Amino acid sequence: MRTSQLFIPTLRDNPGEAEVVSHRLMLRAGMIRKVAAGIYTFLPLGLRVLKKIERIIRQEMNRAGAQELLMPILSPAELWRETGRWDFYGKELLRCQDRHDRHFCFGPTHEEVITDLFRREVRSYRQLPMNFYQIQTKFRDEIRPRFGLMRGREFLMKDAYSFDADEAGARVSYQKMYDAYDRIFTRCGLKFRAVEADNGLIGGTTSHEFMVLAETGEETLVYDEEGSYAANVERAELLPPDQEDGADQLPLETIHTPGTKTVEAVCALLQVSPDRLVKTLLYETPAHEVVAILIRGDHEANTIKICRHLGITEIALASKETVAAVSPAPLGFAGPVGLQGIRILADHGIKAMRNFVVGGNKPDTHLKHANWGRDFTVEAFLDLRRAQAGDPSPRSDGRLHEVQGIEVGHVFLLGTKYSKAMNATVLDAQGQEVPAIMGCYGIGVSRTAAAAVEQNHDGKGMVWPVPIAPFHVHLLPLTASETVLKTAGTLYDSLIAEGVEVLWDDRNERAGVKFNDADLIGTPFHLIIGEKGLAQGVVEFKRRKTGEVVNVQPDAVQSHVKGLLSAYDLPR
Ligand code: ATP
Ligand code: MG
Repeated sequence: MRTSQLFIPTLRDNPGEAEVVSHRLMLRAGMIRKVAAGIYTFLPLGLRVLKKIERIIRQEMNRAGAQELLMPILSPAELWRETGRWDFYGKELLRCQDRHDRHFCFGPTHEEVITDLFRREVRSYRQLPMNFYQIQTKFRDEIRPRFGLMRGREFLMKDAYSFDADEAGARVSYQKMYDAYDRIFTRCGLKFRAVEADNGLIGGTTSHEFMVLAETGEETLVYDEEGSYAANVERAELLPPDQEDGADQLPLETIHTPGTKTVEAVCALLQVSPDRLVKTLLYETPAHEVVAILIRGDHEANTIKICRHLGITEIALASKETVAAVSPAPLGFAGPVGLQGIRILADHGIKAMRNFVVGGNKPDTHLKHANWGRDFTVEAFLDLRRAQAGDPSPRSDGRLHEVQGIEVGHVFLLGTKYSKAMNATVLDAQGQEVPAIMGCYGIGVSRTAAAAVEQNHDGKGMVWPVPIAPFHVHLLPLTASETVLKTAGTLYDSLIAEGVEVLWDDRNERAGVKFNDADLIGTPFHLIIGEKGLAQGVVEFKRRKTGEVVNVQPDAVQSHVKGLLSAYDLPR
């Protein structure tokens, strides 16, 4: 393709609206343009990347036995009412009405629509397993659309839904998708990790997120070096300590600690390290129950774990007013001793502690040498805190490490949540009606493109992994002399004939401008044709990623490029 025939409106300066590098570079390289908050047009170059990711996904989904279909963007409210999600989804669900005042929503996901299809059409376990997928535009009215394609409101998703007659079959379907995702992100040329993810109220452990590793990622993951464990920090499990502190219990001491509201301040005043202190966090459930959560001073609470133990979906720190109703202590002085009529749950870490510091449950007071069991009663010791680097792995003798990642895919064993709610059953081998066991599997196609840039860029621009680059080779004639243009034309034709995707910069621009744009766009290989080289019978071949340059004779260019590309499993 010649640049004169392709709309690539590159920008020299950084657009002010872009906070992250992928957003900035995709705007600057003329790949996307904003239409409204979280809503973008893909320009030709951006669309090429998207189509390549789509092609890889399609091939791997088909290979895994999934069947492509295409569901509508609008779905009727009735289906969503059946599962309760018309109300539960809240404002993220964009709703509209037609001319007959019928309610619809713009699909943020399609469990309802696919389950409706299934219950109407499929009768017998003999027809299973089935797995349907689509690559389609989704709409989610995110509160804070940001970071360009990373968190859009309208975005491209691949979503798949599997149906099985029994649990064992459902696990096989799940594993097939897990393996397909592994191949998809490998083939996209990305460094990623699959991590255990939170299942919310559905429970179980069968959910994995696929995370592209990038310092700018919003998600934190932990993993051990042994490769035995990797999880989203939201879910990362921590085992109870194997030893309790055997020290003698010392008498409880009351200490005057005016104005010391933070862990740091208390530790400085009492000359103790934060791991000798226990924080008392008062939370309020949606049903207005106050629960005290005890966490070691150097640890952080994990509200997702707390919610899971309490069987609820959300919880918040209690407001000042609520705290005042249960404890005379102002913020920073809450403590478990003398706390009346409130459930006290403690993190496992507290079980191992003796003679620790706690808030005094009254103003300007802390207690030293507090001990659970003697001074207050703990209802249960549970895993309630956020994992952090250095914590022991729950599956090996190793320690946990932390890295940042971008969630690009999510595989989820749903069980019968939707099939039961919507009465999607099949007849099993005994002729019994059983609800189908479902799985759902998403990939953010547009987010994957952005994540690829977050992971692969430098000061000059994007550095596309070869399989999803908009073009393979950027052909850069440095002058408009006859010999240069003639060689460019010959090489272009010979590469195109081999199926190589070549972007030919045929603009009448200075070499510096062409180089800058080529670096910005980030095509993996640059083929540079200049007078000087031609006089010596060579053209230059440069790798965008490393800057490494080799001289190649024009006749050898075709086989050189073929050799380079043969290292990749390119989308076909
Ligand atoms: P997040 O926690 O980032 O909001 P999610 O858990 O809501 O994601 P899923 O419902 O599992 O996401 O959707 C499947 C995939 O769709 C995600 O893994 C992600 O890659 C992509 N995705 C979700 N929301 C967005 C969005 N607002 N913009 C772009 N891609 C998205
Ligand atoms: Mg979301």
